[in-house]
Amino acid sequence: MADLIGLSSKYIDEGSKEAPVAFNRINGELSEVADGIAMIEAFSHVVLFKSADGLVLFDTSLESFGGQVVKAMRGWTDDPVRAIAYTHGHVDHVGGAGAIVQEAADRRRTRPQVIGHENVAPRFHRYHLTNGYNAAINMRQFGGAGRSMIKLGDTERFGPKAWIEPDTEFSDRMGFAAGDLRFELRHARGETDDHLWAWLPSRKAVVVGDFLTWVFPNAGNPQKVQRYPLDWAAALHEMAALEPELLLPAHGLPIAGRTRIAGVLDDIAGALESLCKQTLELMNSGARLDQIVHTVRLPNEILEKPYLRPVYDEPEFVVRNIWRQFGGWYDGNPSHLKPAEDARVAKEVAQLAGGVDALAIRARELSQAGDHRLACHLAEMAALAEPDSKNAHAARAEVYEKRMASELSLMSRGIYGQAARTSREKAERNEP
Ligand SMILES: [Zn+2]
Repeated sequence: MADLIGLSSKYIDEGSKEAPVAFNRINGELSEVADGIAMIEAFSHVVLFKSADGLVLFDTSLESFGGQVVKAMRGWTDDPVRAIAYTHGHVDHVGGAGAIVQEAADRRRTRPQVIGHENVAPRFHRYHLTNGYNAAINMRQFGGAGRSMIKLGDTERFGPKAWIEPDTEFSDRMGFAAGDLRFELRHARGETDDHLWAWLPSRKAVVVGDFLTWVFPNAGNPQKVQRYPLDWAAALHEMAALEPELLLPAHGLPIAGRTRIAGVLDDIAGALESLCKQTLELMNSGARLDQIVHTVRLPNEILEKPYLRPVYDEPEFVVRNIWRQFGGWYDGNPSHLKPAEDARVAKEVAQLAGGVDALAIRARELSQAGDHRLACHLAEMAALAEPDSKNAHAARAEVYEKRMASELSLMSRGIYGQAARTSREKAERNEP
């Protein structure tokens, strides 16, 4: 067992330059966090409570971690699982449920009750509609290495073989008791529209799911459905108002101590609120999305906190999500309303520049000078104007490789990395 509270106290109180894997450990091990409360560190974690009436679990991790979760749980206690609560319906939180339910069946024990918000089941149905899309974007988001490490499904299928839907649903609030433990479940929108968090008055503990993940909030995600940064911040304030002494997240480390928890919750809520405030002010003044994206900023000292580093999602993407939530898809640039095909624009510009090779040369120059944003535009145009040009693809590969190396967030790195790989293959293919 690890001293997870000791680790988080040190990182929060002293700051840390360590890589994010120090905070988000994925080892499948169970550690006791307080008397009768444990956490299995996986992707996502599983938070476990012992009660006289059996175990109560929050989240189940991925399907590929299910076996390990059961093993780790049984190394701690042989108590039956009384209930599983999904903090939300993301595949890394619900995928392991199958293994836990199966273990109960194998041992002829009562099937655990499965609790979730009423939007969990509709989410599962949406995944069926967008199976191919989800498999493709997760391949991009998590890259080749990530996919094999965390297994979000396989190339054909997104998610677990069988989705276990909640048998107990609620819309706003729900009380739940197991033995002597009483949980207050509350719904709030944040990373998803089906999210819950829980308050245990007797232990002064909050179970927060993905409302706190030890990375900058996944509130912008370029390839996924709407997130809710303002509701997210409100939920964090609601948690703080309860003055919790113990905070149990689904990713990253548990946190103990009223003041420490209050400070962390306030920092995260403040960052999200600042992005919302700045974006909405500019929207209300009639600014275009382009201006807003290049104006809104958060201070560096906030982004350097060990629990707010933009290594997964990033503030710029959150700005776009705020625009999408409160505005429409039109970005304020009239040429984007009913545009010409990208390839036609690219051909026109290439011709004006004196050919695709001129675009490729300039793209490389800009990239070497560190202007990756502009370099990407020109390299993309070169490849679009002449899709069979090896030179255009060589430039595009180089520009996106450098771009990827310059970016912090997994979401950016995934997308640029895939673009680079595609062009590298085309630039280096052998044909007569
Ligand atoms: Zn998660």
